[in-house]
Amino acid sequence: MKRREWLGGSVAGGLALGGMAAFAQTPGRPRSDLPAKFAPSAFAVPSTKYSPFTTPDYYTYADDLVVERNRPGKPHAGKVLAAIQAHSDDIPLFAAGTVAKLIDEGYTAYLIRLSNDEAAGRTLGYGVVQNELDNQNAAKALGCKKAYSFYYRNHRMDDCAMIEIRSRLIFLFRMLQVNTVVCMDPYNHYDENPDHIIAGKAVEGACWMSGSARDYAEHYKAGLKPARIREKYYFARSPQGHNLVNRVVDISTYIDTKVRVNMANKGKGPAGSAGARLRQELLQQGKKLPLLGEDDEAANFQYVKFFLMADHHLFGQQFGCEYAEAFRYIGTEPNYVDNIRKYAAEHAVPA
Ligand SMILES: [Zn+2]
Repeated sequence: MKRREWLGGSVAGGLALGGMAAFAQTPGRPRSDLPAKFAPSAFAVPSTKYSPFTTPDYYTYADDLVVERNRPGKPHAGKVLAAIQAHSDDIPLFAAGTVAKLIDEGYTAYLIRLSNDEAAGRTLGYGVVQNELDNQNAAKALGCKKAYSFYYRNHRMDDCAMIEIRSRLIFLFRMLQVNTVVCMDPYNHYDENPDHIIAGKAVEGACWMSGSARDYAEHYKAGLKPARIREKYYFARSPQGHNLVNRVVDISTYIDTKVRVNMANKGKGPAGSAGARLRQELLQQGKKLPLLGEDDEAANFQYVKFFLMADHHLFGQQFGCEYAEAFRYIGTEPNYVDNIRKYAAEHAVPA
């Protein structure tokens, strides 16, 4: 979809023409001095520069990349998804469209936050309380059944024992019978935030060990069952981080849900009440931005959708989607034992 057509749709949907001049400055593909003999393996991601968080500097793409579109019916009915984040704004910013899509397609979902988010508030205590509320509200806006928090100290998670974080996740994965996880890529390159890497690593280990009969076997004595985690959606932190992308999820249908999930983050992140603050600031100068609407609630929604989600639109355009999110996806492994047995049945000869 061309930018003009998309803007036309947005105008029809309630946005005003005032935003067009701003979008006209959207940068194109950056100039490269790479000599022709080199094949680029990392690709700069186009950005509107309206959001500091939604676009990594680069992605590398796998040659079997899949664009995941809406699936009719409820193909995931009976399956359980855990969306795990170090901080209350991680899933909202990077993966809320995909989580909302998977829930709509039948998953029962849980939101698990590992830190206490104390570093994002007027004071440490205020940050803990506000982000606790935000995490609950983001879970509701997403459609999650329940939210959990581990309350490790914000930006200090590398001081925590990995084995404890991992074991707590294994307990939850088994208790909830998780099939699929969405979380930060444990190999997110150049991420400055230590909590993100810890979260990704703990989840990856927990996914593997949750199905084991020998690890934490006392869980089974208490009535828990192994959790078979077959699918992982790993996302990269922006802008410093980047990862290998082999799945682009079309979140066009779920963009308004993603906007509301981000609006729930009042304590941190670029969304919250930023639209209302801009509207009030302009009113004090005797001005208004028509796209922000006529009240603070509309201003918060439109601010997030028009400015903060714009990079998801630019990214999606490259793959034929109105809005999209990017992942390193790891799916179900082939049943190699069945394949070997099948080969043996077909090729065995009398001994
Ligand atoms: Zn974070």
